[in-house]
Amino acid sequence: QWIYLDGNYVTKEDAKVSVYDHGFLYGDGIFEGIRIYNGNIFKCKEHLDRLYDSAKSIMLNMPLTYSEMQEALVETVRRNGLRDGYIRLVVSRGAGDLGLDPRRSPKASVLIIVEQLSIYPEEAYRNGLKTVSVSTRRNVPDALNPKIKSLNYLNNILVKIQANLAGVGEAIMLNSQGYVAEGSSDNIFIVKRGIVYTPPCYCGALEGITRAAIIALCAKLGYTLKEEPFTLHDVYVADEVFFTGTAAEVIAVREVDARIIGEGKAGPITTHLLQEFRGIVEVDGVS
Ligand code: PMP
Repeated sequence: QWIYLDGNYVTKEDAKVSVYDHGFLYGDGIFEGIRIYNGNIFKCKEHLDRLYDSAKSIMLNMPLTYSEMQEALVETVRRNGLRDGYIRLVVSRGAGDLGLDPRRSPKASVLIIVEQLSIYPEEAYRNGLKTVSVSTRRNVPDALNPKIKSLNYLNNILVKIQANLAGVGEAIMLNSQGYVAEGSSDNIFIVKRGIVYTPPCYCGALEGITRAAIIALCAKLGYTLKEEPFTLHDVYVADEVFFTGTAAEVIAVREVDARIIGEGKAGPITTHLLQEFRGIVEVDGVS
């Protein structure tokens, strides 16, 4: 396995960053999780757009141009020889001193890790996940704008801990007003009477690339999609519920807080969207 670290390709053992790196000291940095399907980097442009927007917003000087970054991604994937897998691209503020001041970190650090992905078993896509809502809240709007994919993932970690305690793989986080925001690392959708709903980003949802792909698919397939705030009640009484994310793709939910959703398995619209999504991943990408 070869890891890209600031222009070099190093082994896992040699992939080391400074203890003064502000990504480590403060979670000061940004990242992307990207899929490789069939040797292609899926939605490469969308991920790089989000990364460069995040960088601009937090005033992080990217050490690579957009096209250099794309080349680094392609080359790291090539060196690892994976046809299907997952890319973690991290840009941290870089090594500085112990103070917060980002001006003390003159050079951002870039690392790219390519790995095999362990995802949910195929059975989970048919039968759906069991999930719960958790007490961790997403405060919006705040400095951690959900559109910035920053390394500050403490909220998401707390959601994950609560999911673990409940024995489920993903959980639902609300925002401070009580509206549904997203999962620990997935966006959420519900379907009611044939209409598909997902929370707007201002409710605390990341502008997920898979979310955007599903919104586009809904338009193409003729499903009405509404980005509007909804509550847990709406989730409980939905006909279908599903999560979307780079790793999870489109995964149905069969139970939320002990309420059975629809028939207690992946519903027809969720199944249709998953099928169509799997169709586009095979053809769309940078290689
Ligand atoms: N929300 C959060 C908090 C995430 O970390 C992710 C994973 N990147 C998502 C949603 C899904 O976004 P995407 O489809 O871009 O992977």
